[in-house]
Amino acid sequence: MQEIQSLSITVPTGGCVNNCKYCVSKMHSDSWIKERFKGKSKALKHIVENAKLIIRNNKVVIDKSKASLSMESFLIENGISKTMFEKASMLINSYEEIHDEIQDFYERLKFARDNGVNTVILTGVDGEILQNKPFLKLFNILNNLLPNPFSWIEAQTSGVMLEEPNPFISKYSEEDNLQFLKDIGVKTISLSISDIFDNDNNAEITQIPKALRFNLDALCKEIKQRDFNLRLSLNLSDCYNVRLPQDFFDRAEQLEADQITFRVLYTSPDGNSEEDKWIYDHSIDLKMMDSINDFILDYGNLIGVLSFGAKKYGVHGISTVIDQDCMNEDVKVTLKSIIVREDLSLYTKWDERASKLY
Ligand code: SF4
Repeated sequence: MQEIQSLSITVPTGGCVNNCKYCVSKMHSDSWIKERFKGKSKALKHIVENAKLIIRNNKVVIDKSKASLSMESFLIENGISKTMFEKASMLINSYEEIHDEIQDFYERLKFARDNGVNTVILTGVDGEILQNKPFLKLFNILNNLLPNPFSWIEAQTSGVMLEEPNPFISKYSEEDNLQFLKDIGVKTISLSISDIFDNDNNAEITQIPKALRFNLDALCKEIKQRDFNLRLSLNLSDCYNVRLPQDFFDRAEQLEADQITFRVLYTSPDGNSEEDKWIYDHSIDLKMMDSINDFILDYGNLIGVLSFGAKKYGVHGISTVIDQDCMNEDVKVTLKSIIVREDLSLYTKWDERASKLY
């Protein structure tokens, strides 16, 4: 197999809190993916919060010494109460319900790691990764059970739910979610932004619910204070037509970003969806795109070529990439990354069932 550079893990979310006007996931159907944890979220939550998982003979098993020894005599001898026994039994039952999923997830992580993959990208195909924290906790537990865990982990998000905890504002804000991401090993936060110059317009294009709206300056400041790498992933629309290329780099510097990705918006092959229509009406002007390209070539130093063919430049100290078309056919053919989808199988392409490895 060719060298694989990254493993994307799609966190199952069951629908997004946002409603981006250009949302890729709404443009095509992934109905062939069977979500393995669907209907099992209670068991998943119970396991990640209460069980200790260990590896025995290459299998993920529950550490029963922590959970239960089912013999009543043991309970009596060790003075274990009925409540403790019931709790332990619940744990075992939950584990029974999802142990195949846990084992399959572990094997896919191990396969990627054994094949030299260093980077994990946590992403949501139809939602925000923080909508499913038990799944993220499970990823962290299994990663730490690998003989050689992944240490470079990226989180992709629109930025919602990362604000200071405030249970009065949102049910997603009860916890310090930046700390949560840090605790599961995330090093880079990649913010997918619709307008870096205007918070209201960003919220409008992304259609962020009122309770989850945030101030980009404050959020970026917090992300940097917590020592994350910060990538601004800019979804290019006509809101940028009035800008100069230099403006993007000045703004990125103001936000203390380490990296910028300019992302040309993708339309689907049939081009008939609401999102396609929005993109046709609101695409960035080609002249503007050309001037961004020229600016990068004039002021940037080539750092390297990414796995999917895009070139990476250093511009004013900021690592800069232009992603011309994330779903382009040629890109997909040469893509040196693999993906764990919600069915916990490995694929080499996002939207091609036949690309399943196992
Ligand atoms: S955040 Fe992502 S999944 Fe959610 S609506 Fe926007 S593009 Fe779609």
